[in-house]
Amino acid sequence: LPVLAIVGRPNVGKSALVNRIIGRREAVVQDTPGVTRDRVNYKAEWADRSFTIVDTGGWEPDAKGINASVAAQAEIAIDLADAVLFVVDATVGATSTDEHVVRMLRATRKPVILVGNKVDDVHQEPDAAALWSLGLGEPWPVSAVHGRGVADLLDHVLTILPEISAVAKEEVGGPRRVAILGKPNVGKSSLLNKTAGEERVVVNEMAGTTRDPVDEQIELGGKFWRFVDTAGIRRRVNLSQGADFYATLRTSAALEKAEVAVVVIDVSAPISVQDLKIVDLVLESGRALVLAYNKWDLLDDERRVYLEREIEQDLSHVSWAPRVNISAKTGRHLEKLVPALELALASWDTRIPTGKFNALLAELTQEHPHPVRGGKQPRILFGTQAASRPPTFVLFTTGFLDPQYRRFITRRLREIFGFEGSPINVNMRVRE
Ligand code: GDP
Repeated sequence: LPVLAIVGRPNVGKSALVNRIIGRREAVVQDTPGVTRDRVNYKAEWADRSFTIVDTGGWEPDAKGINASVAAQAEIAIDLADAVLFVVDATVGATSTDEHVVRMLRATRKPVILVGNKVDDVHQEPDAAALWSLGLGEPWPVSAVHGRGVADLLDHVLTILPEISAVAKEEVGGPRRVAILGKPNVGKSSLLNKTAGEERVVVNEMAGTTRDPVDEQIELGGKFWRFVDTAGIRRRVNLSQGADFYATLRTSAALEKAEVAVVVIDVSAPISVQDLKIVDLVLESGRALVLAYNKWDLLDDERRVYLEREIEQDLSHVSWAPRVNISAKTGRHLEKLVPALELALASWDTRIPTGKFNALLAELTQEHPHPVRGGKQPRILFGTQAASRPPTFVLFTTGFLDPQYRRFITRRLREIFGFEGSPINVNMRVRE
């Protein structure tokens, strides 16, 4: 999906605008100063088109941190988005922070749409018109809270936003796209440097910016791979506030572009909530997954026992992900990364022919019929794989299947087909 990023100072009404655009679907939680949100991506629909909104405003820094945080937002938006919605509070006018962002936005060829928010009635429209001075073209006057002007704005957005994300379009048939993810200091840059060696080719054109390149093309195992958002790995950002949110944004940005994620986990320390959050973001994105347990050289026998226990307890829900035990420092088992990536991507791409799938369903339901519930026994009429990347199945049934029964089907599908490294979805449609 094409990506629209929302950028602007704290308090200009970004969350209200996002809520207005996504409707009641999954409202953005109200901002509380100093508190960061977890969620950054939202699915939006307008005039029969879908796109992803990335809300960069998840943290509200104090006055001292504003420039840094807003600059970080703008930078991510520029890396990631197909278009940027830059929100200014029309009742306040452009501040020096706004001008700072404008300078960054001007350095990109990404389309920027300027929004003057809080224009609650017609008498305030001159406030928005004053924003012409920012040099970003026509300001769109809206009231996010009352909805005024938002429909016109969205109509305009759709004329600017491409049908398909530029990244996805460019890459059809190109090198496969890999995101290296993980919390700070787990060894992402070490891994990148060690695997890339001297073969690194920096990909320059894609962000269409005059800034650092964001992706790198690397030859591994005789093939080219595109490592996305390597700039985000190499660049160290020093934010006193909002560091977690920034990390989540970067992770989501990388996932948006990637097909497969390598989540790097440092085995020398206990597996943490942060590690699990990153795995959750991958699951939510539907991308393929490889788990890289790094710093294996630091593992002693005692820690090793704990590690295996932690993996069993905290990561059992992704036991299908290929696992590599590596050391980015010594180079141990780095050659195992490529086969793991290939396996995960092959699973992610899998298509099961409908005939085969239905023969299998018939077998499963015979072996293990759905239990009778309230005198009724829902039956699976037939099924089909509706999509790949990741494999997504639809079962047409005569009634609601127990969650337990759906889990049984999912588990058996995995036992039969493996799908190592790929999430799979099993959905249900009840035929009346
Ligand atoms: P990043 O923040 O995830 O990119 O992590 P870095 O690649 O910067 O690594 C953080 C620290 O861990 C550095 O001091 C690395 O030298 C060290 N490191 C990375 N991989 C390994 C490893 O496999 N073994 C050991 N012993 N140290 C490692």
